[in-house]
Formats: sequence, C-alpha cells, structure tokens
Amino acid sequence: MGKRELDESIIELKGIGEKTGKLFNKLGVYSCGDLLSYYPRGYDLFDAPLKACDLKENVICAVKLTIIGNVTKRRVRNLSIVAFEAADDTGMVKMAYFNAPYLASSLKSGTTHIFRGMVRKKGNFFSMDHPKMYKIEEYAALMGHLLPRYPLTKGLTNNTVMKAVEKAFLNVGTIEEFVPGDVLSRLGLMDYSRALKAVHFPDNGSMLEDARRRLAYNEFLLFVIKLRLLKQTQEEAKNENPMIEVADVTRLLEQLPYKLTGAQLRAFDDIKADLSGDYVMNRLIQGDVGSGKTILAFMALLMCAANGYQGAMMAPTEVLAAQHFESFKKLIKDYNLTSLKPALLTGALSAKDKREVQRQISEGEVNCIIGTNALIQEKVIYKNLALVVTDEQHRFGVRQRGALAGKGLSCHVLAMSATPIPRTLAIILYGDLHISLVDEMPKGRLPIKNCVVGTSYRPTAYKFINDQIQAGRQCYVICPMIEEGELDGVENVTDYTHMLKATLPEMVNVAMLHGKMKPKEKDEIMEAFARKDIDVLVSTTVIEVGINVPNATVMMIENSERFGLSQLHQLRGRVGRGNEQSYCIFINTSDDEETKKRLDVMNKTNDGFKIAEEDLKMRGPGDLFGVRQSGELSFRLGDIYHDSDLVKESAMDADRILSSDPELALPQHAVLRELIATKSANSVDTATL
Ligand code: ADP
Ligand code: MG
Repeated sequence: MGKRELDESIIELKGIGEKTGKLFNKLGVYSCGDLLSYYPRGYDLFDAPLKACDLKENVICAVKLTIIGNVTKRRVRNLSIVAFEAADDTGMVKMAYFNAPYLASSLKSGTTHIFRGMVRKKGNFFSMDHPKMYKIEEYAALMGHLLPRYPLTKGLTNNTVMKAVEKAFLNVGTIEEFVPGDVLSRLGLMDYSRALKAVHFPDNGSMLEDARRRLAYNEFLLFVIKLRLLKQTQEEAKNENPMIEVADVTRLLEQLPYKLTGAQLRAFDDIKADLSGDYVMNRLIQGDVGSGKTILAFMALLMCAANGYQGAMMAPTEVLAAQHFESFKKLIKDYNLTSLKPALLTGALSAKDKREVQRQISEGEVNCIIGTNALIQEKVIYKNLALVVTDEQHRFGVRQRGALAGKGLSCHVLAMSATPIPRTLAIILYGDLHISLVDEMPKGRLPIKNCVVGTSYRPTAYKFINDQIQAGRQCYVICPMIEEGELDGVENVTDYTHMLKATLPEMVNVAMLHGKMKPKEKDEIMEAFARKDIDVLVSTTVIEVGINVPNATVMMIENSERFGLSQLHQLRGRVGRGNEQSYCIFINTSDDEETKKRLDVMNKTNDGFKIAEEDLKMRGPGDLFGVRQSGELSFRLGDIYHDSDLVKESAMDADRILSSDPELALPQHAVLRELIATKSANSVDTATL
C-alpha cells in the first residue's frame, strides 16, 4: 500500500486532467484514497433479456426485440422525437428517443437489438423512452455483471469515474489490513483491500454484500473507537455549570394550555437532576414524532438562562431552526419569561447580521441561541455557554462535541431524537449517553387515518384536500425530486406545484419548498405556511424533520415506494399534531408485490418502533443500496438495524483494542490510528441534510 499513494492527488492519475480533477473536487474527491471510498450509489445488473410479454411496468428491464414498421421522426415545439415499434413473438413495445434525430437514419426496420430501460404503460401498450440499445453479442458480454453507478456532477460521466477508480486501485496497490486476522475469521469478514475493490466492481450480488458488510464493520468500529476515545477525555467531566430549579419553569408548567404527559414529566425530572448534579449532562431524549420533545428543550433552556448561563439549540435544517426560534419567541412573550433572550444564528443571515448576533453572543446579550450547526463554528465565541440542545441530530456527537471541547467548554448536552434506535443499540453506540424515553403521546390526539393507493386515486385525493382546505385546514404534498428530469417516473416539486395550482380552485394557495431555494425564501414560505397564508405546501423531504404546524391535517406522499418506512413515518408525523382528525395518503406508483406489502405496514400502525422493526424485517440485503433511511444514524454502508450484529461485535472489538492499547500507540494499531485521524473516518458524523 501506501499511505503516500492514498494521499496522492487524483490529478496524478493518468487521464485525469485539471478540468476533470476540479469536477471530482466538487464531489469531495481530492486524493486517490477519496476515490477508493467514493462508493457507487447503485449497480446496473445486466439480466438476461425478457420476452415482451414478461415486461413489468415501472421496472428497468432488458428485452430483445426487432424493429417493425417505419422509424418516424417528428418535432414537437423544440423537441425532436424519433419513434418506432419493436416486437417479438409475444408482444410489441413503443420506443421513443428525444433529441437524437440521427437515430432515424441509423435504425433499420427488421434489425434486432437488446433494449434496456424503464418500462411504462401507455394505454394498452408497453413503452420505453430512451432505452439503451445494445448489439446482441455486446449485451451477452455484459450479462450477469454488476456495473457501478456513481453519484455524478454535470460534466462528469459514470464511465470517467469508473475508469478513475480503476486507475486509483492500480496506483495504490494492496491496502493494509488493520483488523486482526482472528476477528476477520470469527466474523467471516472479507479482507479490507478486497472489500474496497469488490464494492466498486463486484462479480455478483453475494460478493457485493460481503464487501458491504466488511466496510460496514469498519464504519462501526471506527465510530465506536472514536466515541470511546472521546469518552475517556470527558467521562469524569465535573459539572462546572450547576443549576438550581427556577420559579419560571414551575410557572410555565402551571400556565401551559395543556398538562405535560407523565413521560414528559419524567424526562424533565431526568434533565433537572443532570443539570444540578455532579457531572456534565449527556442525555438523549428519545420520543416518537409528536410526543412533545420541543417543550422539554425549551424548559431546559429556560432553566439554563434563569441560572445566568447561555444555552444553544441546534437543528439540522434552517427551516427547523427558524421554526423553533419563532415558537420560542411566542412562548417567551405569552408567558412573560423575561430571563430568556433569544437569538437566531443560521447560514441564512447576511454577513452583517451574523456579525451582530455573534457580538451579542460573545457579550452575553443573548442567552438562548437557536440555529444550525453554524452555532458551533469557530467564529462563534460564547460568553458562558452551559447547555447545548440538539434537535433531530442523531449524529451529534464525536465531531461537534469535539468542537465544543475545542472551545474549552464542557457543556451539558441534550440530544433529542425521534429515531427509534433500539435501546440496546443506543447504549452501544452512545455508550456515554443517558437515555430518557418519551413513550406516551399527548392526550386527545386522534390516530391518523392512512391509505395506500395507486395513482388513479389522485383526483379523489385532490378533492379531499380541497374539502379539508375549505374546512380551514392545511395540507402537505411530498415529491421526491425538485425538478423535472432528475429521474424518470418520479414526481417533482416544481411541476407538481404548477399542476396543483391548475387543478385546485383559484383561491387555494399552493406554494413549494425545497432544498435548492435560498434559506431566506425557505423561511418565508415556512412562516407563511405557519400563518396559514399558504394552504398547500408541495415540498421535498426538507420538511421531514420536526416541522410543527398543527393546523395541517393532510399529508400526501407521491412515489411513497421510494422512501424507507421510517422516513415515511417521519413525514406522516407532520400531521396529527393538533386536535383535528388527520390523514395520510401514500401514493404507490409501483405495482411490485413486495413494495405493496412494505407500504401496507404504514396502514397498520402509527407506532415508530414497530415500523422500524418491520422495515428491518422486510428489507433484503439487496435493497440496502436502494431505499436508504435518512435521519437515523446513517453510516455510509452500515445500517444499524440490518447490521445490528456487527454493531455489537464492533463495539466489543473496539473495547478490547482500547483496553490493551488505550492510546492506539502500538505498531499494530498504526493504521487504525491514522484512520481515526483522517477525514474519511469522520464522514460518519458529517451531516448530510
Ligand atoms: P416532537 O416530539 O415531534 O418534537 P413537538 O414537540 O413538536 O413534537 O410537539 C408536537 C405538538 O404537541 C406541539 O404543537 C406541542 O405544542 C404539542 N404538545 C406538546 N406536549 C403536549 C402535551 N403534553 N399535551 C398536548 N399537546 C402537547
Ligand atoms: Mg421535534
């Protein structure tokens, strides 16, 4: 191996010039090592070609067909369309190619090809738009192989990435193993070098799964070691910011329009005991969506401020941070909580405003600072930060806590999560965290009514949405994509918004929200939705975490089959937050039986833990590259549910390694030590939201 080769810039690789290098940089790939761990996001499997009668709608299929009749060429506005029909003895498929007029002359009636692409149904016929075309012998050579499909950026083709990865492997040679042989054989794990290669170029599905497991083990092992190392430095941290109970909290509890649930009260007792105890707080509040975690954070921040300290609350998105800020301002005003002085700090602020907020923070003019992870950036200097609350940031931990420690702060940490991590796993992964479960829903909530339906249900859904709006309610519609053309057959927010505007009565206000909008725009839209100026919000999953608009009663999710069950549960959690009956409509555009069964789970239960369990049971290993969960502890290849055995094993191994060599100083741990220190090992706790 060598470390030197791994660190070498990709520009040194033959065939990668400055320009291509820059494109790779855009994807975060700088060195050969980066390239090797630039994993495919999927694989193309070249299955044996089907007969026309065996094609399946909405599935990528290969089919061997002969062109029949004429190849026609026409123009529709500025689009040229080449179309023809192709058939075998069992059926016919309509083919179309856009903006490829040259095809018209090269395609001959009577010739036979393999066509591979997404199959659609148009009326009574199957159709394929833009299928890839192969000569028969060309396809035969590809058959049975898995070809990697990489995440790309404009200007960079899949082939370029594949070639570059191949060259990087040649350049780097064998990569040194860092896991002892007895561990590998005990767990039946592939060696590191082979696994890295196989994850890019697997011979078959089972080899890919073996490789993925090995790399998943790496992720868990490194993660746990880092956690443990951090714990060593923090474990005995004395509570330097002790707090006492304050009257404001008691008064707030008495005046709130609702009574806290028993579970909320127990969790808050835990928090109070930590804040006033001998050691620094490290607590995870785990409660299903809608269980009322925010008010707990608010009370902790109130207690902190009333004791004369600063507290901060970190949210994964700007939208969510802004929402918390608004609702905290309202609580402060409604209950006259003058000890709390809130401020919002996100990337959305202008440079000038940011400087002003930073000044207020450093001079102690504000004591309840809400924001994104801008909160723990270097430039922010706190006067006396004593508490950090992280909302829906399951991966808050190693790096961020390190950043705080770097500021010389040993703050109390309160993490809040709706991710149903089984307790046993949570204890392994967050060995240093105490856990409070909020396992009780506020009273008076009506269970959400669900339906999983096909696209033909849409008109009924729109009518239902309209009725709800006329009754004063609001609705969400979720689409997986932002714009047209990102993926075939997948709904996008932009077009959907236009379509809904045209479909619903004119007085219904439809707006869109997605991650490519400017932060300021996003805030404005969310605020308008909260004010009820917007009736229907068409959005990507940016609204997935934490958003709270209790007046919204309908959640309609397009292409539900593209989401993991836990993610669907999070999305559904945006409704059913008030006293009105709420509804969730899952549109399933796939006719695959397995998918139907999977989505049906959403019909049967509103319980996040049960859903996570079912999700785990129903996903085969092959799906892991397909539907990924978001929001939970997401490792790149590891899945804490699916690989729970590896999580446990890696934790044991980590503890064994560290007990024999607490500082990883031994020569046989040199590679491990380096991996722990490198950027790529950090990627487990770099938020991707
Ligand atoms: P989550 O746990 O998903 O973060 P939130 O804290 O956003 O949930 O709470 C959801 C809604 O429930 C909010 O509108 C909140 O005001 C309300 N709520 C919280 N606790 C209670 C309670 N004990 N009784 C009734 N409503 C509550
Ligand atoms: Mg929340």
